[in-house]
Amino acid sequence: MKNFNFKSAANTKEATKLATGRATFLAGGMSLLPAIKLRLAGYSDLINIKKIKGLSGIKVSSKSLRIGSLTKHVEVATSKEVKKTISSLASLAEGIGDPQVRNRGTIGGSIANNDPAADYPSACLALNATIHTSKRKIPAEKFFKGMFETDLKKGELIEAVEFEVPVKSSYAKFSNPASRYAVVGVYVAKLKNEARVAITGAGSSVFRSKELESALNNNFSASAIDNVNISSKGLNSDIHASAEYRAHIIKVMARRAVSTC
Ligand SMILES: Cc1cc2nc3c(=O)[nH]c(=O)nc-3n(C[C@H](O)[C@H](O)[C@H](O)COP(=O)(O)OP(=O)(O)OC[C@H]3O[C@@H](n4cnc5c(N)ncnc54)[C@H](O)[C@@H]3O)c2cc1C
Repeated sequence: MKNFNFKSAANTKEATKLATGRATFLAGGMSLLPAIKLRLAGYSDLINIKKIKGLSGIKVSSKSLRIGSLTKHVEVATSKEVKKTISSLASLAEGIGDPQVRNRGTIGGSIANNDPAADYPSACLALNATIHTSKRKIPAEKFFKGMFETDLKKGELIEAVEFEVPVKSSYAKFSNPASRYAVVGVYVAKLKNEARVAITGAGSSVFRSKELESALNNNFSASAIDNVNISSKGLNSDIHASAEYRAHIIKVMARRAVSTC
């Protein structure tokens, strides 16, 4: 359905009130509009949230980095605060799509969409993020439910994403040369209490690798990954890469991420 009503919300309360029935929020439109155009999705109303003040911007504290949902990828990529606090997050944003996508796409839109090959979901899981919505705070662990599926309820708006500041971290992506979406992306973070490894592009949704985490919790070094066995069972197999190839690339990207931490 390509016909829809276009409405603009001035604040979060108005946006959530308007988002009833077959309505949805419009942020950068980089994923939503192609889906509508290709008739993969149809809505009665698009609620423009871009005019809502306070949903954009970056705040740093000693323990966390909070990024407003309407903050564009280019803003994260070029932010001095992000580069200083979690530089891997700035590099991740710099590697998303192309300049057009980075100048329109938002962090909130990316995680709400939960594309299995999107980059930010891996940062959320690895950096123990909390998703702040109009209703509640959701730990990243509970937020990403499956392919293009999240824990968000109808009319629930993401307001910000809060990342734990790690001791060190790095993101390595083997990207599709056309779209730059991840064929496999591995986000490694050494947090205060544990090492975390989140993988995107390889499965139906982002996931943590217990095998890699256990190896890195014993010894946080690239060589610790050498003896880890990554099973191809359940991994994506498509025109870009077989499941076996993805399993191999996970190890390669994990080693690369750890050695650039
Ligand atoms: C050519 C191309 C290449 C790309 N390459 C990459 C890549 O390499 N890596 C990558 O990660 N991504 C990539 N993307 C996706 C890109 O990052 C999008 O910007 C992102 O997925 C969606 O953000 P958006 O702001 O455009 O959201 P929209 O398209 O406006 O919305 C997407 C979905 O999120 C919902 N939504 C938006 N904001 C909120 C909110 N605040 N609260 C609740 N729901 C909300 C919308 O209702 C909609 O369902 C690419 C896109 C394109 C077109």
